[in-house]
Amino acid sequence: MSKRLRIALPNKGRLAQDARDLLGRAGLEFDFRGERALQADLGADFKALFVRAADIPEFVAEGAADFGITGLDLIRESGRSVDQLLDLGFGRCRLAVAVRDESAVVSVDQLRDNVRVATAFPRLTNEFLQGRGCQATLVHVNGATEVTPLLGVADVVVDLVATGSTLRVNGLREIATIMSSSAYLIARPGLKEEAVAGAKALQLTGSLESVLRAQEKRYLMTNVPRGRIAELKRILPGLNGPTIVDVLAGTAAEDLVAAHAVVDRVELERVISELRGIGAVGILVTRIERLLP
Ligand code: AMP
Repeated sequence: MSKRLRIALPNKGRLAQDARDLLGRAGLEFDFRGERALQADLGADFKALFVRAADIPEFVAEGAADFGITGLDLIRESGRSVDQLLDLGFGRCRLAVAVRDESAVVSVDQLRDNVRVATAFPRLTNEFLQGRGCQATLVHVNGATEVTPLLGVADVVVDLVATGSTLRVNGLREIATIMSSSAYLIARPGLKEEAVAGAKALQLTGSLESVLRAQEKRYLMTNVPRGRIAELKRILPGLNGPTIVDVLAGTAAEDLVAAHAVVDRVELERVISELRGIGAVGILVTRIERLLP
């Protein structure tokens, strides 16, 4: 068997569980050996290495891992060159500039030179502020950035924001977004051009994509009076139009057909109520594991 390709995964934090779940749903099973495992076999072709999310861009850029899953914010902050293969959609947040609620500042242009900015993202913060003509004094922290104005060590913070509740609780207000972020699948430079590893990259990307696509869809089955097929086609566009099958004549008084279709998750409630309107019965909705167009 060929050598396993190494995927660096976050060992803890916000992205760790979602990354494992996604790989699991793509059919890649973790085989942990030992209790405090720093690595695990993953499916037949891969080996997972559990490391800090912030170190993953470095490991992948250096070739210590073939692939990695980590936040786009950390990838950009590392300044390292890696191939971004796929946006995985989880861990969504934004890197934002925030000031104290009572501050008169409403935009970055109003920040004075030498303003003290606390952040765990010095590279991105410097790039952004210098691009806006502000020469800030950076206070480098590794966590709890949002408390630094309260402690009097900074006037401004640059931190990740998801719901905004951490900023609010700490009396802070956003004035700018530096970047939007989510988790990405990355690969070491040059991997895509290699025969074996490149093929595995395509396979891995394809199966993760099929899971991501499927999670936005539902499979719907229902029985509808034969006379309403034209309206049914309008309500259920499906991937290629609904599949319509005869229902064997039973005790049902009406002549029914069964319709199956893939429906956008967000459209589901509307579709169900429209189906009810044309006399649909026995509506059944299921999740889809994978969807390959
Ligand atoms: P929230 O209160 O939902 O806006 O979340 C903000 C807090 O969660 C901050 O401490 C952030 O550093 C952290 N955070 C939010 N989203 C992420 C993410 N995708 N990755 C890592 N940390 C995050």
